[in-house]
Amino acid sequence: GDNRPDLAAWWMPFTANRQFKADPRLLAAASGMYYRTVEGQEVLDGTSGLWCVNAGHGRAEIADAVRQQLMTLDFAPSFQMGHPIGFEFAQRLTKIAPAGMDRVFFTNSGSESVDTALKIAMAYHRARGEGQRTKLIGREKGYHGVGFGGLSVGGLVNNRRTFVTLPGVDHLPSTYDLTRNAFSRGLPAHGVEKADALEGLIALHGPETIAAVIVEPVAGSAGVLPPPVGYLARLREICDRHGILLIFDEVITGFGRVGAPFASQAFGVTPDLMTTAKGLTNGVIPMGAVFVKRGVHDAIVQGPEAAIEFFHGYTYSGHPVACAAGLAVLDIYAREDLFARGAAIAPLWEAALHSLHAQPHVIDIRNVGLMGAVELSPREGAPGARGYEVLVKALAAGLLVRATGDIIALSPPLIISEAQVGALVEILGGVLAGID
Ligand code: PMP
Repeated sequence: GDNRPDLAAWWMPFTANRQFKADPRLLAAASGMYYRTVEGQEVLDGTSGLWCVNAGHGRAEIADAVRQQLMTLDFAPSFQMGHPIGFEFAQRLTKIAPAGMDRVFFTNSGSESVDTALKIAMAYHRARGEGQRTKLIGREKGYHGVGFGGLSVGGLVNNRRTFVTLPGVDHLPSTYDLTRNAFSRGLPAHGVEKADALEGLIALHGPETIAAVIVEPVAGSAGVLPPPVGYLARLREICDRHGILLIFDEVITGFGRVGAPFASQAFGVTPDLMTTAKGLTNGVIPMGAVFVKRGVHDAIVQGPEAAIEFFHGYTYSGHPVACAAGLAVLDIYAREDLFARGAAIAPLWEAALHSLHAQPHVIDIRNVGLMGAVELSPREGAPGARGYEVLVKALAAGLLVRATGDIIALSPPLIISEAQVGALVEILGGVLAGID
């Protein structure tokens, strides 16, 4: 229509803009579980925006806190001075964090959290006089953002095709083969054997050269791949044996997505560093945080070579407005018991998703907590086309999903009602029934 803006100047991320510009769709507003388009169509948010709006849209408490903070202390140079709200937010975060992760470094995004964590890992070894430990191990199909560090340890090869990545990086095999086509409920088996691949990589490179291993507890961008039973614990064991730090990238899985505050707690394995963003501020103000075990922090600050300082920080580290938003978000999570709510509704979510089993082209359904994926067989000669068609038709039918290739990923806000779970799956089922 005539009220549409010119779509040329905003260079949008990835290649989404190509598809989008051919078939534009603009969001005008959001409230609770719904987006509204500029045409006035209501769209059920099946993805919490981009895996982040865990408490739902349009929360007045966050808006009030942001406005109040802007009018009180709108910026603080955290290289020279702190501010009470930053210390309060960090302390509140450590209270829901896995035991022992009681130091928090603030960033502005998931990508920055990942690069920060990788640098902390290297600084840790350096401070302990093991500066030759610089290699990093990620995982195939892993997604750790688009900084050069995160891109390098990431394993979605399209993302790094046109960039030179860090040297000294290797990748564990993905766990996709253990989940694919299984229609499994709960976690897949054979995690211990799968994790043992780490021993092979360590032997190849030499344990004394490796700084850290980084994985998403549940791979999100790869299409929701839950960890096989025993997998994360085995990684922990192997890392401990060789003095290697273990990093969990909880940018998606943090803040209630998988039935506990963090996946680390849901699966009973505590890493040395944990990267977060997204749900940290409900996605409404850009912010990230790296949680660090006290021993790691103290080694960098007090170790034998601690004089080599950890020079790292951002203009916006611990931005007071982001901290204010985050505190309001933590209040909502606590007051509405949203992490427990996510866990409580997960069985219904699982049953509803798996009711799509018989729809055409569905080759797998996976779920963990309030994450889910419906994987479709690729159309002959046109991988991704079927997934994109589902995305477009779901939007037309009033549901926002995420399509990564032919995998339809879902992660609704934790406030979703039972009736809305039913509505979401009914819309998706109707769309799936109608595609060829
Ligand atoms: N790590 C993971 C696991 C993610 O899912 C993402 C974003 N989807 C990132 C890092 C990067 O976060 P951001 O886009 O905020 O930089």
